[in-house]
Amino acid sequence: MELPFEIGPQFEGERIRKDDMYIELGGPKVKAKAELAKLRKADEIEDGRVEVKGLDIGEMEEGGRYPFGIFVEVAGEKLEEDMEGVVERRIHEYCNFIEGFMHLNQRYDIWCRLSKEAHAKGFNLKYMGQALIKLFKSELPIIEKMQVTFITDEKEVVEFVGNAKKTYEARDARARALSEEEVDEFYACLMCQSFAPTHVCIITPERMSLCGSISWLEGRAATRADPKGTNFPVQKGELLDAIKGEYAGVNEVVAERSDGETERCYLHSMFGYPHTSCGCFESLAFYIPEVDGIGVVHREYPGDTPIGVPFSRLAAQTGGGRQGEGILGMAIEYMRSRKFLQADGGWDRIVWLPKSAKEMVGDAIPEELRERIAMEDDATDIDSLKAFLEKKAHPVVQRWGFEVTEELKNKLIAYIEKREGEIYPEEAAKELGISEDQVMKVIDGLREDGILE
Ligand code: ZN
Repeated sequence: MELPFEIGPQFEGERIRKDDMYIELGGPKVKAKAELAKLRKADEIEDGRVEVKGLDIGEMEEGGRYPFGIFVEVAGEKLEEDMEGVVERRIHEYCNFIEGFMHLNQRYDIWCRLSKEAHAKGFNLKYMGQALIKLFKSELPIIEKMQVTFITDEKEVVEFVGNAKKTYEARDARARALSEEEVDEFYACLMCQSFAPTHVCIITPERMSLCGSISWLEGRAATRADPKGTNFPVQKGELLDAIKGEYAGVNEVVAERSDGETERCYLHSMFGYPHTSCGCFESLAFYIPEVDGIGVVHREYPGDTPIGVPFSRLAAQTGGGRQGEGILGMAIEYMRSRKFLQADGGWDRIVWLPKSAKEMVGDAIPEELRERIAMEDDATDIDSLKAFLEKKAHPVVQRWGFEVTEELKNKLIAYIEKREGEIYPEEAAKELGISEDQVMKVIDGLREDGILE
């Protein structure tokens, strides 16, 4: 079949602006959208088959926005169950290999655009399906048979999304059983470097890729399925800080693959040297200095956060592979991790979360905190947030009264002298009877006084 467009990695990173767009499939203004890959037995699918359930591009109106489902079914003797997620994540990469087609995000959150130019050349979903099959089979030779179904009929997409969500949940549950301590290697993902050239995603059993679609199990499967692909193993190396989640091996890989841009990486803190963020993170954590707490907002929540800006504005501040203190892209699944922002206080530090996100991770929130974390109806700005936290006696309230006194400064100076100029925050905290964070505040105070550098 002759395709009316070109395909190849040269089109990756191609953005289709609103003025150049013929139609949009999925995206923030459309509720029903998802992509899913399923492993099948060889006799269950028909190799090369492309089906469109609903309107194809030619029947759509220019400028329109449509529900969208991409369903990929594959078979191959060497395919393992954990590879479903790997195949699914590649939909993003290979869709972007198609001239005139843009694909963002993943899972239930996809956002695609087709250019006017591609439409004029005769693009349709049937051709697109053929292109995807060709790309998948040449890039991942362990796929022996593949069929693709595109769904644009709203009712069918809604049903498809429901089924897809059940599959995602089952996959994530499988990965939850493992811990960082019991494995020797983590996995890196460089898929987003086409958009965020210095971004290196580190995937551990307790920290999913921040797009929320590659668990450690799937990272491992990806390196097996495609050893030359965008996923590869990272030897943990020496554990430098168990609480922050700093490993020598991770630092090395991050430094090398970010071209020296990022030299250190904490897997479980949003302060100091946090993990970088690409652009496709499912949610993000943001520091709220007025209450010394952390808010979390996810991509699907369209409203403002209590700091007066929505997800999109915050996302613009952290994307692109930058390392930004106090703002961090992350998977929703990460909130279920035992190590969720543990260096920053974990759930004890979370002060605000949209209701819909709270529902998604509900049972992972410690019971005594569930009613103490504000949602959009409880707090719409800093003042109402403060009042809510105070009324509920949220753990962050204890942090508010802290003042850097002369007495504390003197105590810390005495400690530093005793230690011959070194500071071990954990030890200092014990000695002064305050928290590590508070030690950092005293250090800042001494810096302001010009006593410390
Ligand atoms: Zn990404």
